Amino acid sequence: MAEPRVSVVVPVFNERQNLPKLHERLSAALEATGRSWEIVYTDDGSKDGSIDLLKDFHAADPGRVRVIEFERNAGQHMAIMAAFERARGEVVVTIDADLQNPPEEIGKLLALADKGHDVVGSIRKDRQDVGWRVWASRAMNWVRERITGIRMTDQGCMLRAYHKTVVRQIVATGEQSTFIPALGQAFAANPAEVEVEHAARHAGESKYSLYKLARLNFDLMTGFSTVPLQVFTIVGMLVTAGSLGLVGVILLRRIFIGSEAGGVFTLFAILYFLVGVMIMGIGLLGEYVGRIYQEVRKRPRFQIRNVYEKVDP
Ligand code: UDP
Ligand code: MG
Repeated sequence: MAEPRVSVVVPVFNERQNLPKLHERLSAALEATGRSWEIVYTDDGSKDGSIDLLKDFHAADPGRVRVIEFERNAGQHMAIMAAFERARGEVVVTIDADLQNPPEEIGKLLALADKGHDVVGSIRKDRQDVGWRVWASRAMNWVRERITGIRMTDQGCMLRAYHKTVVRQIVATGEQSTFIPALGQAFAANPAEVEVEHAARHAGESKYSLYKLARLNFDLMTGFSTVPLQVFTIVGMLVTAGSLGLVGVILLRRIFIGSEAGGVFTLFAILYFLVGVMIMGIGLLGEYVGRIYQEVRKRPRFQIRNVYEKVDP
């Protein structure tokens, strides 16, 4: 089996309702590019029977459709990582399974890859997500740009193309709590971006709860920068300097005016605020320490139950 020119990688978590349409449109769009292709689906521990549909897709086109079945949910980025380990294409494209990224846009990415861009990112033209998600994501994008120095206009758009050399570097990191577009961008020698259409979810609901979304953003911030820790040190220094000033003022008042009992509530307010800042600092440290612990234990990042693929003799 010759190596395909394009591999498309799709993470799937409870997307049964979207899969038939996705597979149909994706296959047609790839056919239209006139290149040889393969699709690698990762079933990320779905409980809705997505795997049955994926197995059917593989059975119908065993040479071009491969399926990795996870034992349990390991997250979108690990699902992509597992598929990256197996993708054989010259260029590897990631796309969501809910049809928010139109498969027909893949051609645009490939055209830029042809021009020698080793990572092609995309920018959602008219993003179709609930209001708070769009704003929160814009804010995180802004913060990420400043603290990681990674330049990416729209970090949340997963419709991206990576040359196999970049995919190899991403796989080689062996990282667990990571953010694939940022890794790709960090390894890119000649990145480019292109505007793409965006649609509302074809069916079902977002697989990201607020908590899962927060965790993912922590992965991104802590995984690509230690600036948050330094900011905290600087905040600590400023607070210490401020407190020292306050101690001086209170001491002088004690000496020249005598003992004063007023302002207790003001002091409490200041104290509570500072305790809050401290707890936040400990939490921030914990975010780093927890991830270091996770990485050093070296437990498998994901567990594969089955791989459905036609193996060469
Ligand atoms: N996904 C996954 N594992 C997860 C969560 C999501 O494989 O734990 C997949 C999901 O099936 C979809 C893609 O990742 O193909 C993006 O998820 P979703 O559309 O829910 O994210 P959103 O568009 O709301 O950011
Ligand atoms: Mg989506």
